[in-house]
Amino acid sequence: MSLAAYRSKRAFTETPEPVGRGRRSARTHVFVVQEHDASRLHYDFRLAVNGVLASWAVPKGPSMNPADKRLAVRTEDHPLEYAKFEGVIPAGQYGAGIVMIWDLGKYEPLEDQSPEEQLARGKVQIVLQGERLRGGFTLIKTRNRSMNSGRRDYWLLVKSRDEYADPLWDIESASFDRSVLTGRSMKEIKEGKPAKPRLGRHRV
Ligand code: MN
Repeated sequence: MSLAAYRSKRAFTETPEPVGRGRRSARTHVFVVQEHDASRLHYDFRLAVNGVLASWAVPKGPSMNPADKRLAVRTEDHPLEYAKFEGVIPAGQYGAGIVMIWDLGKYEPLEDQSPEEQLARGKVQIVLQGERLRGGFTLIKTRNRSMNSGRRDYWLLVKSRDEYADPLWDIESASFDRSVLTGRSMKEIKEGKPAKPRLGRHRV
């Protein structure tokens, strides 16, 4: 796990994103989901693994409905500090657009295997303790799609059938259009509005 790819894509004099210290002492297992209104709207799903955030871009966003299998394209590892990043990546920079912290919390590996071992194996089973995502999830690596370059890893993100499962899940619900960290909407983040103290209560 390395931040080299992350850093090589970004000009830190231009973007407000963190450089990251690349530390390895990650005792807490943080996860974050960031709504990212880039060239295409998507959701970035990130898990703290071995001192960095293992990352996937999920075009349709995560689902609490076990019937949904969400495509999750593995992207470069991000620094742990990125879990608290919310703001606007300037035009012309990598990933230009608005980033909102859509969910934030902790996770536990479901199995005896460490998250790093599970990642290497291509099947990650976790229990999420977020504000919007809760309970068991599985990330499973698929075979690369032949129509693509073959250089990307395609995974599926699937909710477990447990007491948190929601067959009526709709990520476009208006109740989800707020940051769990600052209470701001995408529009308010774009406009640089301050965090809303009443809602900005999240601690990790
Ligand atoms: Mn993204």
